[in-house]
Amino acid sequence: MVDTARPATPEADRHPTAAPPPPPAASSSEDSRQAEKAFTQVRAAFRSGRTRTVSWRMAQLQGIERLVREGEGELLSALADDFGKPRVEAWLTDLAPVGAEAAATRRHLRRWMRSTRVFAGKTNLPGSAWTVPEPLGTVLIISPWNYPVQLALAPLVAAVSAGNAVVLKPSELTPHTSAALARLVPRYVDPQAVVVVEGAVEAATALLDQPFDHIFFTGSTSVGRVVMAAAAKHLASVTLELGGKSPAIVAADADIDIAARRIAWGKLLNSGQTCIAPDYVLVERPVTDRLLQALQVELGRLQGADPSATRTRIVNERHLHRLESLLAGAGGQVVTGGTVDHDQRWVEPTIIVDPDPDSELMRDEIFGPILPVVQVDSLQQAVEEVNRHDKPLALYLFTASQQVEDRVLDATTSGGVCINHVMMHFNVPGLPFGGVGASGLGAYHGRAGFEELSHRKPVLRRTARPDLPLAYPPYDTRKERLLRRLL
Ligand code: NAD
Repeated sequence: MVDTARPATPEADRHPTAAPPPPPAASSSEDSRQAEKAFTQVRAAFRSGRTRTVSWRMAQLQGIERLVREGEGELLSALADDFGKPRVEAWLTDLAPVGAEAAATRRHLRRWMRSTRVFAGKTNLPGSAWTVPEPLGTVLIISPWNYPVQLALAPLVAAVSAGNAVVLKPSELTPHTSAALARLVPRYVDPQAVVVVEGAVEAATALLDQPFDHIFFTGSTSVGRVVMAAAAKHLASVTLELGGKSPAIVAADADIDIAARRIAWGKLLNSGQTCIAPDYVLVERPVTDRLLQALQVELGRLQGADPSATRTRIVNERHLHRLESLLAGAGGQVVTGGTVDHDQRWVEPTIIVDPDPDSELMRDEIFGPILPVVQVDSLQQAVEEVNRHDKPLALYLFTASQQVEDRVLDATTSGGVCINHVMMHFNVPGLPFGGVGASGLGAYHGRAGFEELSHRKPVLRRTARPDLPLAYPPYDTRKERLLRRLL
């Protein structure tokens, strides 16, 4: 038994998991010109009215499906050039979900676009009332580098399905993929209504100065704050798909081999550079040893004999140094891994038991193949540990007990939950995907995405006559008595 028991950190000593927001970057006049040009162009396309039609929306969705099919080779080599994403994994996790999302949206779109009747109320008879979804208008999508195709194009699916015109700014940290998107997107979708702007923080800052109707941001919590502040200037609505520390609780009654296999898979996928990767494990003490043994077996098995065929590289030197420093300051006991290979830009898959709860490893989102395993004496302690951090994007629970499931669901808040697996809730078309609190605002995927990027416009239609004088002043006691009876 690994025995490094320690008291839980008191609430008063809590550290925020998110770094302070970076100061706004200055944009060059070229960035500003480019941003204004892109915005003006898509606003003109939106104002032409064509993006509202069902035929335009369907054509864009078909275009996105064709883009990921016909552009597959170009996108996969860009992903390999950017950070050595293995081919099949890149297709499975970055390209295939986009095609599936666009196809499913196309199948349901006409139904989602229908208006919904509601009762107009006794005081509005004769009359009728309904809500109708209408586009928000111009949408700015800012996307991250870790799944640079999917996290740029899946929000685009939602935006065009709702009839919006879009400026898309992909991440500068995966420049080959951003360039491929900039080449491919105008070939497959309406180039006047969907514009890709490449660039870094300065380009994003210049775009945020434009009066978009909505901003759809995927990225870190700290930059999410910058985006929300920029949106406030124009009262733009926002969707914030952010990060955080997603815990995996392993209860003593769980199937330990399956828990280990699935947690190891979630931590290795994209070398842990996944927003919903299991960030750390909370395990009930009696099953720690079994879990650690099984995790080590699974980490070895999943990497196979040649790690170069299965490992995605850490995206750049800065992130490699960040992970190295998380390892150095972690405390606890390293039971496997711990080395960093600067030539290959790899971090060896690492398990650390009971790291220092105040270390950066346990405060910040890890975003790499390092798995802290924290022993707890009870489920209650696991719940307290989860609630010590900001509300996570995902929570994972491994248990065979309905009672345990109910307790954990009831006592914790997270963007989403997956029981007895990790990350798979992301792929359920009927489930909205998004965070809560510091892990995000709003949700998308399927109908949730269409609704997130639509305004649900309420409409009341009254007949001109009869026009009863009852509701109009001057009021007297007779009118008041009748009104009180009616309302
Ligand atoms: P990031 O916040 O550094 O960058 C995201 C995008 O914002 C990039 O396009 C970047 O150019 C732009 N940007 C960066 N700084 C900016 C600023 N000051 N002003 C305006 N724009 C700015 O995030 P990242 O490193 O690309 O991605 C990793 C983070 O994203 C992690 O925290 C991860 O959890 C999160 N993430 C969340 C989801 C989700 O669906 N919730 C998905 C993937 C990644």
